[in-house]
Amino acid sequence: MEFNRREFGKVIGVTFGGLALGTVPEGLLGAELTSYRVKKGDTLSRIARTHNTTVSKLKQLNGLASVHRIRAGQRLKLTDSVAASAEIPRKLRWQIDHKGVQHKRWKKIVVHHSATDNGNAAIFNRAHLRRRMENGLAYHFVIGNGTNGTGDGEIEIGQRWMRQIHGGHVRNLALNEVSVGICLVGNFEKRKPTAKQMTSVHNLTQFLQRELLFNRPKVYGHKDLEQNLCPGKFFPLKAYRARFA
Ligand SMILES: [Zn+2]
Repeated sequence: MEFNRREFGKVIGVTFGGLALGTVPEGLLGAELTSYRVKKGDTLSRIARTHNTTVSKLKQLNGLASVHRIRAGQRLKLTDSVAASAEIPRKLRWQIDHKGVQHKRWKKIVVHHSATDNGNAAIFNRAHLRRRMENGLAYHFVIGNGTNGTGDGEIEIGQRWMRQIHGGHVRNLALNEVSVGICLVGNFEKRKPTAKQMTSVHNLTQFLQRELLFNRPKVYGHKDLEQNLCPGKFFPLKAYRARFA
């Protein structure tokens, strides 16, 4: 949403928690401005200065290379608009954010479905051990769907995350070395993930990508990396990728 405000002498896009507003009390603007449309003659440093941020923060938010020319009409994110919304329980954050975490190692976050109707981390762990995966559960995280005594949307932390070892969730060994694997329980070729699972995968991804890990890992569905159906046609992969682009 755009509007022209003579007082500011420029065109500014403002959103409040996803709601676009036509007019905003002046005092709120500094805190709530989430994006800015570049005008002719703008520089990153001037935009940063005017909006109380830094050039490096702008580059990070907008995925700009170190040498990058901005162009008029381009929209720049000023703040991490997703960051304020999502929450995972504090206790779980502490468990995920343990002192062994290799912040620079993880370059990708890969989402899977279990392709089973039910299950949980313990059940998949046993199944993977039976498949001679010596480290058991192939994923770093499992998000339950309310079956087998695990809560709908419950995030379970796998041993591979606690030990900070490679996943076993993709075929490619090099990819497993640098990819965090998140498995949502369910067969999303048959049905959608539950709303609570989606909330949890968003919250977990956001925590990992925006807070915990360095280098802002890129997000993928398994089928983006290898030829298969995972995480299923009913997982909203496009929206998920866009949200964490
Ligand atoms: Zn998969």
